[in-house]
Amino acid sequence: MALSDLSADDLSRLESDLASEYDEVKSRGLALDLTRGKPSPEQLDLSERLLGLPEPGDHTAGKTDVRNYGGGAGLPGLRAIVAELLGVDTDRVIAQDNASLSIMYDLLSFAVLFGTPDSERPWKDEEEVRWLCPVPGYDRHFGITEALGVEMIPVALGQGGPDMDEVERLVADDPSIKGMWCVPIFSNPTGAVYDDHTVSRLARMTTAAPDFRIIWDNAYAVHTLTADFPEVPDVDALAAEAGHPNRFLQVCSTSKITFAGAGVSFLSASTVNLDWYLGHAGVRSIGPNKVNQLAHLRFFGDAEGVRTHMQKHREIIQPKFEAAAAALSRRLGEYDVARWTHPEGGYFIDLEVVDGTATETVRLAEEAGVALTPAGSAYPYGEDPDDRHIRLAPTLPPLAEVETAMDVVALCALLAACRAARA
Ligand code: PLP
Repeated sequence: MALSDLSADDLSRLESDLASEYDEVKSRGLALDLTRGKPSPEQLDLSERLLGLPEPGDHTAGKTDVRNYGGGAGLPGLRAIVAELLGVDTDRVIAQDNASLSIMYDLLSFAVLFGTPDSERPWKDEEEVRWLCPVPGYDRHFGITEALGVEMIPVALGQGGPDMDEVERLVADDPSIKGMWCVPIFSNPTGAVYDDHTVSRLARMTTAAPDFRIIWDNAYAVHTLTADFPEVPDVDALAAEAGHPNRFLQVCSTSKITFAGAGVSFLSASTVNLDWYLGHAGVRSIGPNKVNQLAHLRFFGDAEGVRTHMQKHREIIQPKFEAAAAALSRRLGEYDVARWTHPEGGYFIDLEVVDGTATETVRLAEEAGVALTPAGSAYPYGEDPDDRHIRLAPTLPPLAEVETAMDVVALCALLAACRAARA
């Protein structure tokens, strides 16, 4: 029966039962962690062979000696693999160092300091620079825009993409809106996949800012939880057709394919954008880590090698997502006090609890020994106006711990809902 249909007596009884159960859980002294979307040790083991690559004596790729300086755009062989996965030409992809987040930070800081190829002036000389942020979204994206003094405007994200009527309305009239964060496939944290119509509208829409940019973070393009891989739209081609050839700056990395923090990152964009990026990046480094790039090239072999590898990841993490959904549904299903996403890929589940109880749920879980990402972290400035969303990351802990931790989260969400209903 829905919580809202319970009589006052039944509600009070339920709360007291849950409170005793909660006290019992607290006494167990749990120390579980569902905070960050990290690969588990078993997933990292899948790439152990990388540690022996490239082998001694194997240090040339084409004419490049990977042990030496230079080659700012990265190794063509590895770029070709990622280009195939993204459905673009190899010369439209460059391979960089270990983190796509660094590329994103560069993209924005270069624009702030120097302007983009389509800017009249550096963004630091504009009166105001604003940025659209589909929400719930990725906290580290918001961290970059906040650090660089870019004002963030939240826009609602549904399962098929951002509210495009709102996006088009905002960008059409306001030249201070210079861009937008997007995670188009298996979005962090809801698992949303932008549908074709949304992608087409993003490519075609008219923007008041001539130097409008979409940072198209394809962090999870091949991170499927099913036997199928999603279609990756060629956004550059769509935007070029619509007369906006420099609109998209697409990034991805092997952080959650091989080693998080020791993988390779990639930027795919128009030639104008890539030349602009490499021009500035070439001042701050004499070239990326090509030894690691060669290791990845040898490890994968080809694009099919990446897909085969990602299916092994899926075998490890898909049961954890299933266990998480089962635990949430066991506790919360009948009371109609929460909703959660059922992602077909990526690393997260977005749990929506009763309005005004996300912070309390996270606090209760913390006290019971289950660490969660702070409520609000999926919103710019950490402010979820409804105090409703909690990001759950089930990949890192072992399966049994995911089951326990999710049960505790569900217990806390229900207890908080009961207390709110009685208040
Ligand atoms: N982009 C998204 C959407 C992510 O969720 C993450 C990690 O959680 C990253 C980027 C980080 O990528 P990288 O390790 O390449 O910096």
